[in-house]
Amino acid sequence: MTVADNSRWARRTDILRELGLTPLWRAKGTGVPNQAPVVEAVSAERTVSREIAATEDRRSEISRMGWDQLEKSVEGCIACPLSRSRSRTVFGVGDRNADWLYVGEGPGVEEDARGEPFVGASGKLLDNILAAINLKRGRNVYIANIVKCRPPGNRNPTLEEAQECEPYLARQIELIKPKLIIALGKVAAQNLLHTDATIASLRGRLHEYSGITVIVTYHPAYLLRTLADKAKVWEDLCFARSTMENL
Ligand code: URA
Repeated sequence: MTVADNSRWARRTDILRELGLTPLWRAKGTGVPNQAPVVEAVSAERTVSREIAATEDRRSEISRMGWDQLEKSVEGCIACPLSRSRSRTVFGVGDRNADWLYVGEGPGVEEDARGEPFVGASGKLLDNILAAINLKRGRNVYIANIVKCRPPGNRNPTLEEAQECEPYLARQIELIKPKLIIALGKVAAQNLLHTDATIASLRGRLHEYSGITVIVTYHPAYLLRTLADKAKVWEDLCFARSTMENL
């Protein structure tokens, strides 16, 4: 089995387990009482296989898109329930040839209304953070989010929502080819790095996303609530700046 086969198989097993069908699939009995569950499991397995194939087709289609097509595709996306409650999609903003990519978690109420990331209070702080290391929104900097639609009530996006949206961010990253990605907060860090580790344990180290260096810091919204951690963000910025000098 290739690595791709293995991960496809792992996903299929996970989904069947979630549906409560894996034990039935393994049932060996040949008597009548077992027939219905086995048939059910076979048909569920076929449905899962079709869903996985459709997911892979969508991912591969997105991975070939240019900027215009990608933007249109995001605008019309209905892949997850967030599409039903959004006002506008929030694609991302900035220099499409940037060395720096900042990734947040998802649009808030103001971003949802304006269609641009980080325009609310945490956006103002992000602009100040950028200015502290001589950066400016749109100049060698691109800003995007893990999900392109606002999670209602500003809750964190679910894993499923993040996974549905991931091909878009992945394609943006392929097109931008940043030298350094700054993950802003837990949701961005955990989704980009496929980990459930804490921010505290991820800060101060270099990570990698598809061959690109990633640095993790606190989310500006967290910083607005916890000013005591400002010094830590300053440390992270200095670390990011010196890292960039060597990339
Ligand atoms: N918080 C985020 O993570 N992203 C935004 O775009 C706005 C607030």
